[in-house]
Amino acid sequence: ATSIRLHNCRKAFADGTVAVDDLSLEIQAGETLAILGPSGCGKTTTLRLIAGLERPDAGQVLFAGRDVTSLPIERRDVGMVFQNYALFPNLNVADNIGYGLKVRKMPRAERERRCAELLELVGLQGYGHRAVHELSGGQRQRVALARAVAPRPRVLLLDEPLAALDAQLRERLRSELGQLLRELAITAVFVTHDQGEAMALGDRILVMERGRIAQLATPRALYQQPANAFVANFIGTLNAFAVLGRTANGVQVNGGELPWSASELPGTLYCRPEHLQVTSAPGHVRGRLLGQFFQGAQSRLLVDVGGAQPLSVDSSDDRLHAPGDLINLAVEPQRVFSLN
Ligand code: ADP
Ligand code: MG
Repeated sequence: ATSIRLHNCRKAFADGTVAVDDLSLEIQAGETLAILGPSGCGKTTTLRLIAGLERPDAGQVLFAGRDVTSLPIERRDVGMVFQNYALFPNLNVADNIGYGLKVRKMPRAERERRCAELLELVGLQGYGHRAVHELSGGQRQRVALARAVAPRPRVLLLDEPLAALDAQLRERLRSELGQLLRELAITAVFVTHDQGEAMALGDRILVMERGRIAQLATPRALYQQPANAFVANFIGTLNAFAVLGRTANGVQVNGGELPWSASELPGTLYCRPEHLQVTSAPGHVRGRLLGQFFQGAQSRLLVDVGGAQPLSVDSSDDRLHAPGDLINLAVEPQRVFSLN
């Protein structure tokens, strides 16, 4: 597998939009990197820089330490998968998958063998003669994947490959894709705006904000040690408490007080929904229940403590509360944190 390095890459468009702003990062050989961020933050442009579909205004792109900045896509040995499948509508499934092999002049018999192997890999045995229009969205996307990996590229690039699929199919294909990436042991860069997808598929996640790195870390580290409020809000749900002043054991916030022993007094403190516990005894904060949403293994409660936003609380407790009930919430001191 091949490592990828972006070194001070910048890409601006004619209208002055800076899509990628002095971006430097390294992707390990065999790693799956998920690029996550809101629409317009520069995910696709970053992927296209790696692919060779865009040329940076400044900076370098290196594959396995070799400068490929001026090489076009066909000389970079990359496979690409897009959101909209982009299959050739006039070719059947096998010919779509074999297209890149034919271009590379692979002999027919070998090509057919490779196609059969790939159809099996993506769970479409026997579909070689089907027309593209006979396939469901999920099947088309599997064909697109098979086509991208057919020539055994050293890098696989995927731009929101599951975004066009319905929720159930997306989840199934997500786990299949994860398995496929592990089997191929290929270096892969995967663009998504879906945090669940990024967490499930990325060995590491690059969270982008306005063309820059907000944070680049493992899913676990992003969740547990977000670098700033932007990242924390993008990965999971976060409760924010405006700090109103000091108390004997902590700080005063809307609805009560939070444990806080550090000497510095931030303007806002945070905690995750699963770390607020519903208690019968008075806890740290208390508020009125606005709503309870059953989610299967747990419920999400919305509790109004008089702050700007209601608190989100995850409770696995089956107790039914009624809207307007007073809810006591407790939190362990180490679950309360501040952010830059
Ligand atoms: P994302 O994939 O995260 O949604 P993009 O990389 O597509 O973001 O776009 C980043 C920014 O660059 C956006 O503001 C977008 O409008 C702009 N942009 C992207 N491609 C072009 C282009 N070809 N011409 C002009 N502006 C572009
Ligand atoms: Mg995009």
